[in-house]
Amino acid sequence: MSTVLVAGAGPTGLTLACGLAVAGVAVRVVDRATEPAQASRANILHARGVEVLDRVGALGDLRERALEPMGMRMHAGGRELATMRFLPDQDEATQALFVSQAAIEARLRERLAELGVDVEWGTTVVDAQQDTDGVTVRLAGGATARVGWLVGCDGAHSRVRELAEIPFPGVPVVERFLLADVHADWDRDRSTSAGWFHRDGMVLAMPMRDAAGNLWRLMANVSPSGAHLTPDEIVARLAEVLAERAGETGIGIRDAVWTSVFSIQRRVAADYRRGRLLLAGDAAHVHSPIGGQGMNTGIGDAENLAWKLALVVSGRADPGLLDTYAGERRPLATGVVRRTTTNTRLLLGEGVAGRFLRDRVLVPLLRRPTVQRRATREASQLWVSYRRGPLGGSGRLPRAGDRLRDRLCTRADGTATRLYRELGPGWALLAHPDTDVRGGLDLAHRHLGGGRVAVLRDPGTSGGLLVRPDGHLAARADIPALRRWFGAAGLTVLQAADTRRS
Ligand SMILES: Cc1cc2nc3c(=O)[nH]c(=O)nc-3n(C[C@H](O)[C@H](O)[C@H](O)COP(=O)(O)OP(=O)(O)OC[C@H]3O[C@@H](n4cnc5c(N)ncnc54)[C@H](O)[C@@H]3O)c2cc1C
Repeated sequence: MSTVLVAGAGPTGLTLACGLAVAGVAVRVVDRATEPAQASRANILHARGVEVLDRVGALGDLRERALEPMGMRMHAGGRELATMRFLPDQDEATQALFVSQAAIEARLRERLAELGVDVEWGTTVVDAQQDTDGVTVRLAGGATARVGWLVGCDGAHSRVRELAEIPFPGVPVVERFLLADVHADWDRDRSTSAGWFHRDGMVLAMPMRDAAGNLWRLMANVSPSGAHLTPDEIVARLAEVLAERAGETGIGIRDAVWTSVFSIQRRVAADYRRGRLLLAGDAAHVHSPIGGQGMNTGIGDAENLAWKLALVVSGRADPGLLDTYAGERRPLATGVVRRTTTNTRLLLGEGVAGRFLRDRVLVPLLRRPTVQRRATREASQLWVSYRRGPLGGSGRLPRAGDRLRDRLCTRADGTATRLYRELGPGWALLAHPDTDVRGGLDLAHRHLGGGRVAVLRDPGTSGGLLVRPDGHLAARADIPALRRWFGAAGLTVLQAADTRRS
């Protein structure tokens, strides 16, 4: 029996499955689609997402395949208002990658295959019944699967969320957006994206990477109408909107590789867990694509859940640890939903006053490097801390729950490494070279298993720190702090025989 069934092989489900498989959990991944999606969808992997993929060993050659980060040149009434540039924090080792969701998913599938798991396409979860020992999942076609846990990474219309009877409250934000990725002969600078604001709405044009070097994403909000639009009609309407709102008539569209009509909703699931059923990614939260946060938030959910579920299925932690997953990730999603909704509304400039505020005050502020730096940091999600969550701490910095930056350090045998290279399924005891960590290490081994905790030396660290597999600080590596943390997380000490075996 597989221990965990992941419903949905989008970026969230694939990252979760990689995180579980790398930790030795028997995992099965099913997806109702008959094959992988080819459409690009998200095209920015923000810095936090890059770090997660690095830790699960799925980054591969994505860095080499990404476009240079580009800015967005914004216009209104025939004037250029500002160019918003990516200004990453130079103290951070990781920067965003402009790479398509299709390429990211392909890389995650490769990593998963290396770990011995293949996605089962054309396999739909239709029903699930849970009892005290596990979940019986019914698949379309009549087959059943008996598993310990079912995780719904099955997108905004999640069946698992319905089966778990978890409410998904929220409201529509924008009724209708049109999108087309088109090959076009267009004499436009491809080093930046462009956005044009108009009283009828906005239109965006983003250069995208492909072999021909002439792929563009066009996106615009349009008035809602009940009419169904064919792909040709979507492309024709976007070309009209580009002329009306941007005065751009010179786009020679050759063909469309993907079109879509979507509405923007903002919703957050009331909870992320009902017993043995869990939710992650778009199944748990949806919001505006402006700011490119959806995929990244889902990938972050997956990493947070993977190590906790791995501890629970191995019997090292009480299932209550899984409640800390929602405790840490749900407030983050609520904030992302709030900010992306506000930013979308500001950019759409509702009413004369809204347009004045956008064109004369807010967008011009984006010319300032300090504002650009802050916006880049905000989008990166590198600021995420769980210090106010159920496993968080107080006192001196860094606090339990804070993210620790990647850094060079040395292993016990003196070889050089990076903190994140040692994480993933593993934990790290990061300590100053002069700090004696034997007591903390012994305690960590008893709770987490021998061989799971790397001792790393870093002259820049004061004392010792136990680092979680997701790069956040668990606790300072002194015995009282570790005991408190293991207690709060519900980690049990295994029998001596089990400890020796691990
Ligand atoms: C135009 C656009 C641009 C975007 N840009 C960005 C961006 O730049 N950055 C960003 O971070 N995000 C962006 N997003 C959002 C991003 O695409 C989503 O947040 C992301 O796909 C969510 O991933 P997921 O794995 O949670 O869900 P999904 O990608 O929706 O995957 C869900 C999977 O579950 C499968 N499934 C559904 N029901 C079942 C079932 N019953 N049984 C089995 N399988 C099932 C589906 O077939 C699907 O493969 C954008 C979205 C859009 C539409």
